[in-house]
Amino acid sequence: MPLEAGLLEILACPACHAPLREEQSTETLELVCTGEGCGLAYPVRDGIPVLLVDEARRPA
Ligand SMILES: [Zn+2]
Repeated sequence: MPLEAGLLEILACPACHAPLREEQSTETLELVCTGEGCGLAYPVRDGIPVLLVDEARRPA
């Protein structure tokens, strides 16, 4: 399920408030923080972005 148009523009990383970008992999859609030194990846579940630091995947 794609994200609603325009939604991405109003979302920001809750950890550092940088903009997010969509990253579609084979099975999952994630919102990846573009902030330098942050890079947390937030899951999107059923089209709803889960912008919780506790739920985010940390960059390797
Ligand atoms: Zn961030």
